Amino acid sequence: MAPPKQEPIHRNTLGMINIDPLQTGGRLPKVARETLMEWADGYSICDYCTGRLDKIATPPVRDFIHGELPDFLGMDEVRVTNGAREAKFIVMHSLCKPGDKVVVDANAHYTTFLCAERCEAEAVIVPSSGRPDYRVDPSGYNEAIDEADPELAVLTWPDGKYGNLADAKEVARICRDKGVPLLLNGAYAVGRMPVDGNRIGCSFISASGHKSMASSGPIGLLGASGEYADLVFRTSKTYDKKEVELLGCTARGSTLMTMMASFPHVLERVGNWGAEVEKARWFSSRMEEMGMVQMGQKPHNHDLMFFETPPFYEISKTAKGGRYFLYRELKKRGIHGIKPGLTKFFKLSTFGVPEGDLEKVLNAFSEMIRSNG
Ligand SMILES: *Cc1c(COP(=O)(O)O)cnc(C)c1O
Repeated sequence: MAPPKQEPIHRNTLGMINIDPLQTGGRLPKVARETLMEWADGYSICDYCTGRLDKIATPPVRDFIHGELPDFLGMDEVRVTNGAREAKFIVMHSLCKPGDKVVVDANAHYTTFLCAERCEAEAVIVPSSGRPDYRVDPSGYNEAIDEADPELAVLTWPDGKYGNLADAKEVARICRDKGVPLLLNGAYAVGRMPVDGNRIGCSFISASGHKSMASSGPIGLLGASGEYADLVFRTSKTYDKKEVELLGCTARGSTLMTMMASFPHVLERVGNWGAEVEKARWFSSRMEEMGMVQMGQKPHNHDLMFFETPPFYEISKTAKGGRYFLYRELKKRGIHGIKPGLTKFFKLSTFGVPEGDLEKVLNAFSEMIRSNG
């Protein structure tokens, strides 16, 4: 019997201007797209495997994981994981027993709390200053650690809500003084901006390939300092080559190949971070001229920005389609990335978006305000 005819499943946002914070740092350069096709078959990476992913010499996975990545992160040992959340879970599961405590910043990603829950550990929160800055003061770690006596501290750097970069070095100093390892969650940092674990002084770094390293996910990284590497990357008692927390092998296919193919591009763009910050600040000031209010650190230090948008909320009260008007108007203009239904506030990212495209976004906003004002 002939197989049923089937059309490819199409993606209808391709070609649009994309300002979705989840997506701006995960787009593949051309060479990575080609690599993806070449390695698309399942387990394609395992042709010459001798028992462990990070030891594969052909393709050059070993050199990438044991050579380039430790240099890149400033950490003694690095492994690939299936995402930032998996990296965080590996750390927590290695360090925490049920009932233990983990100190976490108030702006932490939901997956940090889920990791703790899965380990049956309790998350103790370091508060933020609240609206409008939502700043996490390093001294909060002092108090939280004294109070909770935790096995681990986590700093989200930057956080995924406001794009705030807390003083990581100072948080690391406090944690070190108190003998508590610090996990720096760099899901929105590693692959966008320079991150040097050595200089910061953290014990772990988690990273997200599909969010910030131009990789076709799911893929992430876990970096560990020498002091903790043996613990988190410990090998099995029954299968002595296999690392237990990694369940032997993690990103075993095309996802890793795209990360490797994109790496030169990632190195280059990290060197261009200063210009990305300038662009974000310029965009923020143009938004504020229109009556939006940027939350979080100001001037801002990251491309992820949260805006309160009172002009759009006003329009939504009478607009056709109510609060969905904004999404629809943007879609009409070929702009993607603001969540449908939001008008009081939203976040967006300017990372890697050409200035001309950002100008189009700003013009779209200003047109909507003018034609409804
Ligand atoms: C996106 C994000 C994550 C999750 O990353 P995955 O690689 O998809 O697991 C974790 N933490 C923060 C702060 C994030 O923004």
